[in-house]
Amino acid sequence: QYKSGNEIRALFLDFYAQRGHQILPSASLVPEDPTVLLTIAGMVPFKPIFLGQRTPEFKRATTSQKCIRTNDIENVGRTKRHHTFFEMLGNFSFGDYFKEQAIAWGWELSTKVFGLPPEQLVVSVFEEDDEAFGIWRDKIGVPEARIKRLREDNFWAMGSTGPCGPCSEIYYDFHPERGDDNIDLEDDTRFIEVYNLVFMQYNRDAEGNLTPLANKNIDTGMGLERMAQVLQGVPNNYETDLVFPIIKTAAEIAGIDYTKADEKTKVSLKVIGDHIRAVVHMIADEIRASNVGRGYILRRLIRRVVRHGRLIGIGGEFTTQVAETAIALSESAYPNVRQRENAIKAELQREESRFLKTLERGEELLAEIIQQVQSKGATQISGESAFTLYDTYGFPLELTQEIAAENNLTVDEAGFDVEMQKQVERAKEAHKTIDLTVQGSLDKLAEDIQATEFIGYTQPVATSKVE
Ligand code: ATP
Ligand code: MG
Ligand code: MG
Ligand code: MG
Repeated sequence: QYKSGNEIRALFLDFYAQRGHQILPSASLVPEDPTVLLTIAGMVPFKPIFLGQRTPEFKRATTSQKCIRTNDIENVGRTKRHHTFFEMLGNFSFGDYFKEQAIAWGWELSTKVFGLPPEQLVVSVFEEDDEAFGIWRDKIGVPEARIKRLREDNFWAMGSTGPCGPCSEIYYDFHPERGDDNIDLEDDTRFIEVYNLVFMQYNRDAEGNLTPLANKNIDTGMGLERMAQVLQGVPNNYETDLVFPIIKTAAEIAGIDYTKADEKTKVSLKVIGDHIRAVVHMIADEIRASNVGRGYILRRLIRRVVRHGRLIGIGGEFTTQVAETAIALSESAYPNVRQRENAIKAELQREESRFLKTLERGEELLAEIIQQVQSKGATQISGESAFTLYDTYGFPLELTQEIAAENNLTVDEAGFDVEMQKQVERAKEAHKTIDLTVQGSLDKLAEDIQATEFIGYTQPVATSKVE
């Protein structure tokens, strides 16, 4: 049964409020914890509580938390379920209720409130978590064949030491008719992970020993856009009411009919739809574009929006117009977004016009390169040239290739890859000097930031050691 994104959010929060949870507002994308770059999950604002550094005001809380995950940036538009910006719905127990209750409520919410048919759900538990397996089978009544024991991904830890514990996930099954014999939860044509329950029950010491926590905690996360995908019967997160209006605005500006667009165009529109939400909320949370840390992520996201706009044929400035749609979509749940409207549009406008100028200079350079190649009677643009265009002028390889093809030329892709690899190494060096890292599992986030395309001309220069 169709439910809007706003309805899903309200139903989740109300369900847990009725069960003694305090509804708390989303925390900022900029975590209080200075060692964390961006809020990547609903638990981030509660980290001090889980670490025993702060006494909670409430034993139970529920939130819809704005999150940004840069490690999913390459998945955006390509998988059906990954965003950079998304909302994570969560219910939390701070030393209060535990595994059995969390599972029972998770199931009740999914099946009774959201109305997902029980026979279209599959659950996973941590390989060794017989307790969770038993609860799902005996208390909830999930057939054994639809309870999968997983090792990877199903043990959560805050860091190399500290609170940790097994997870249990709920997946929606789009194709139950394929039967229970070959259930592969990684098969995203069939399954989507919607809800993850973390049972924080151990403390891990420096030697890796696990001792049971006196106060066990519950930390959960449900992707709002994923639940919307399921309940709205659309083929991916991007076509939900939470994102699609942005895509439509971009498509209109480009003069494209989304439903008739080819795959590549759709990916670009999805990237725009996703990234615009991210940048709108980042700027609303007072992040400014820059060359380091969060500001660097913001800049990269804006440039990707601009570049994907060019790829679908938008010539001029357009980001403030799509941002307006994103602001309108989120203002009821996040009033700070409309309050920061002017700042958001000014920042976008400045970044976009600067970047467009750089792109134009790149186009001039490419025209010269093409002329040189042709005057030599050659047919290929070198990897170095393509890389300079990419690195200094923000030209993705595919754009250079397209323009080259229009001139009956090819691009040395292998040569480009070699240069790219060198760049990745340089970027790693550069980022070692920036304090982005966080401990343990969150370390990945900082690492993932460099291993990506489109670093552009403002990429920080590696600080060389004094010779
Ligand atoms: P996946 O395996 O699909 O990448 P995950 O296991 O990394 O998801 P968790 O860290 O368990 O995700 O986050 C809790 C929930 O938040 C997920 O079950 C999912 O519903 C949602 N979620 C996680 N990452 C994203 C994302 N990039 N975009 C949208 N929703 C997400
Ligand atoms: Mg993931
Ligand atoms: Mg997962
Ligand atoms: Mg998960």
